[in-house]
This record gives sequence, C-alpha cells and structure tokens, in this order.
Amino acid sequence: RTVYVNGEYLPEHEAKVSIFDRAFLMADGVYEVTSVLDGKLIDFGGHMARLDRSLSELDIRKPGCFDDLLEIHRELVRVNGIDEGLVYLQITRGSPGDRDFVFPDPETTEPTVVLFTQNKPGLAQSPAVKTGLKIVSIPDVRWGRRDIKTVQLLYPSMGKMMAKAAGADDAWMVMDGFVTEGTSNNAYFIKGNKIVTRALSHDILHGITRAAVLRFAAEAQMEVEERDFTVAEAQDADEAFITSASAFVMPVVEIDGVALGGGVPGPRAARLREIYLDESRKAAV
Ligand code: PLP
Repeated sequence: RTVYVNGEYLPEHEAKVSIFDRAFLMADGVYEVTSVLDGKLIDFGGHMARLDRSLSELDIRKPGCFDDLLEIHRELVRVNGIDEGLVYLQITRGSPGDRDFVFPDPETTEPTVVLFTQNKPGLAQSPAVKTGLKIVSIPDVRWGRRDIKTVQLLYPSMGKMMAKAAGADDAWMVMDGFVTEGTSNNAYFIKGNKIVTRALSHDILHGITRAAVLRFAAEAQMEVEERDFTVAEAQDADEAFITSASAFVMPVVEIDGVALGGGVPGPRAARLREIYLDESRKAAV
C-alpha cells in the first residue's frame, strides 16, 4: 500500500514519524475518515469542514498541504486501486524533538500529516445490514470536548471490547442517564415517523453522516427531533440505528438484551440507508 506522510507518497513500510510526535506522546492530533464508493469520496466537503474546525479548536496550525487534501485523497485512492473502502487522515501538532506539556512554537514545528487507504470491497453491502447490530450501554467517561475529532480513542476502543465481551456488536455511551452516542457512531431511535437523536453540543461528535441523514429525513417522510433520550426510551422504540462514515446507516435490533421490532431490521432505517447511499453517491467527488 502507498501512504502519504508529510508531502511524500511512500510504500507503507518506509513511512516514518518521530517518537516525539505529539500525537504519539499526548494524543495531540485530529483525524477524519472518509469513505470511498465507486472510487469516489463520500461527503468529502463535510469532512474537511469538520477537520478545519477540529484544528482551530485545538490551535493546531493548518499544514501547508491543507488545500491539496482533495488531490492527495484522490491520488491515494487511485494508486491503491480503491473502489470501496476508506481514507484515513491524521494531522498532529507535530514533532518538536522533545517531550513537553507546553505546545511547541507553531513557527518552528510543522504539523504532521499522514493519510492511508483501507481497501474494503463490499463496504456498502455489509452483511450486518441484514442482521442488525446488538448494542450494550456503557457509561460515557470521555473528556468534555467530544465535538473535536481527536485521536484519543482509548475509551471508545475499550467500549468495543466491552460490547464484544457481552456478546454484542457495539456500545452506546450514557451520561447523566441519557445516551450520548456510539463508540464510533451517532445513535438514533425511530418511533412512529419521528427520528430522535441527541442534539449537537460538546457532548458528541458532530457526525457528517448524521448531518446528511437528518437532511434526507424529509425525503423519507420522516420528522426529526433532536433531544436527550434514555436507553429505556430507545428500547421501547419501533426501530433504532447508528450512522458513521464507514457504516453509513446501520440498523440496531437489540439494546441491553431487549429486542426492537422483533429483533429484525426495520423498513424505515433501511429506507434512510438507501436514500443516504443514493444521494451521497450522486454527490461523491
Ligand atoms: N461519534 C463518534 C464518537 C465517532 O467516532 C464517529 C465517527 O468516527 C461518529 C460519531 C460518526 O461521525 P461521521 O458520521 O462523521 O463518521
């Protein structure tokens, strides 16, 4: 696989980053994951707008290649022959050459930029669409700026392990009695013709797929209610689902052992997935 590191396209085994990189030592970096369908980038503009915001919230300088990111994504997709898959992009505060809590001088420390592709043939045809996901709830113990897409992914990673240990597929996190989001996705339930999901704030990541799906809700003759909700309310719903750049819209069929809609994926989440995939394929770059 060919990857991109700080201005160079290299075979992955030749790509190197300093041991003093701020992301390695302090998780001082941000990332984006953009999916590829038909060799094209899905929701690319949304991902770059959020990246811009994540950088500015953390005072990480935009790297010199910022305006070339579309071209870099496209080049990696091309050289690696990706028809369906993902492009991972990470920008860190850089490698100042020593360990120090104080941010390095942005005049002398260039941000580190890394991109690589993940080939995922059949990404849009995942078998989980037919079976649906089993979810368990876990406490949300993450920091208070989950709207910034940082590489601090230890707890989400532990959450996936907790889910696996409980025989489930993923976890929804709960704070003060209300669901925040999934470990790597936004969380929703459907009751009647209403889609309910938590409102945007510092408590959750502002999902790019979330924004698109809520925009398309009207096309599916559905209403949207952005508010706090409990696990019990979701368990009592007609359907539930998650969204993310890599899962698109994925049905949820069980929450903490309680089956929804007879334990099989429902028609409304399926319709939302279809609309999302159709519309975003059309708008792909
Ligand atoms: N919430 C969290 C915590 C995530 O990590 C992600 C994606 O990685 C999402 C939500 C979904 O965001 P998006 O739709 O932009 O992929």
